[in-house]
Amino acid sequence: MSLHLQSQVSLKPFNTFGVDVRAQLFAEAHSDADVREALAYSAQHQLPLLVIGGGSNLLLTADIPALVLRMSTRGIRLLSDDGQQVVVEAEAGETWHPFVQWTLEQGLSGLENLSLIPGTVGAAPMQNIGAYGVEIKDVFAGLTALDRQSGELRDFSLEQCQFAYRDSLFKQEAGRWLILRVRFALARSEHLHLEYGPVRQRLSEQGIEHPTASDVSRAICSIRSEKLPDPAVLGNAGSFFKNPVVSAALAAEIRQRHAGLVGYPQPDGQVKLAAGWLIEQAGWKGFRDGDAGVHRLQSLVLVNHGHATGLQLLSLARRIQQDIVERFQVHLEMEPNLY
Ligand code: FAD
Ligand code: NAP
Repeated sequence: MSLHLQSQVSLKPFNTFGVDVRAQLFAEAHSDADVREALAYSAQHQLPLLVIGGGSNLLLTADIPALVLRMSTRGIRLLSDDGQQVVVEAEAGETWHPFVQWTLEQGLSGLENLSLIPGTVGAAPMQNIGAYGVEIKDVFAGLTALDRQSGELRDFSLEQCQFAYRDSLFKQEAGRWLILRVRFALARSEHLHLEYGPVRQRLSEQGIEHPTASDVSRAICSIRSEKLPDPAVLGNAGSFFKNPVVSAALAAEIRQRHAGLVGYPQPDGQVKLAAGWLIEQAGWKGFRDGDAGVHRLQSLVLVNHGHATGLQLLSLARRIQQDIVERFQVHLEMEPNLY
């Protein structure tokens, strides 16, 4: 048995909210064999298995009566290169941002807008991670997952993943698919996405007229570092709510009362509202109740000032949800995965 099982392990270092709950059992998977061993153990002992990556999209509300398996598999490889498009495969346990940097160092573009997102490669498809106008579905070339029900390996194409805004088949069927490795189709030529708000402005402030993918990555890293709390300093899981997509009629109604409403028309005629703007208008920016709070610069981010429990953070989130419904008739859906 190569899997090293530890009992009653604090998960505080393994979730970016820094919530202190215990896992009944904890192990790290360094290979597919470790993953299969953990699955076999879980079945044999009738103990649920919870797979985690970097713990940056979790809200842990109680001790976890499960075997918590942290994906720590490593490996990046080039699968094909036709001179223009390069397909790269990375193991689930690779840390996302260093992987993005590695692709840029190889002269490959496609992932630059997704720079500095915490977490692992294997979790990225779960909610089709997105930032600054790009989602992984835009450069996705396939993935291999283990079906926890049958134990079989399965390759998924783009269509089969059912990617949507912060959503996928893997999120919909949570607990069924264990993602082992992910493939990305990256470009040797640069098709940069600069249209998203502050990106172009930041580049021009830096005097960069003809940016490379690496320039875009650096600009995005600098914007994010100014605005978002570093989980190593202040516990958080990034955006706590998804941006709600509402009917054009409701958006117009809200805009009549709040002329500054931030909304983006969608191709289907609906309007995506900036949840952070709604929360800020409702007066929650910088709010703090004990150690659970709302970030002082970005209202979409809930923060743990030290010893907040998962339940205290959840209770704050529910108060915000309730208030936003009452003020705007808009339901805010939570983004992190609750356990
Ligand atoms: P975890 O939190 O460990 O797990 C998330 C979910 O995926 C859990 O349900 C877990 O069971 C499951 N899971 C993990 N690994 C696997 C696997 N290999 N197979 C199957 N299931 C798995 N997200 C964005 O989309 N865009 C952003 O710009 C962004 N910015 C962020 C900024 C900050 C400061 C923080 C803290 C978070 C941010 N996030 C963002 C959220 C988060 O970083 C991403 O969702 C990330 O992909 C989560 O990866 P993880 O490895 O930490 O997943
Ligand atoms: P921001 O730039 O202040 O913008 C606020 C919201 O408006 C964003 O959520 C974004 O929606 C939307 N938006 C802005 N410009 C847009 C455009 N040109 N077209 C369509 N929608 C636009 O946002 P921020 O909080 O600083 O975050 C910057 C980016 O990083 C965003 O894409 C955000 O999603 C991402 N991010 C995500 C997380 C997370 O945990 N999920 C955490 C931090 C940052 P979208 O969110 O749909 O892009």
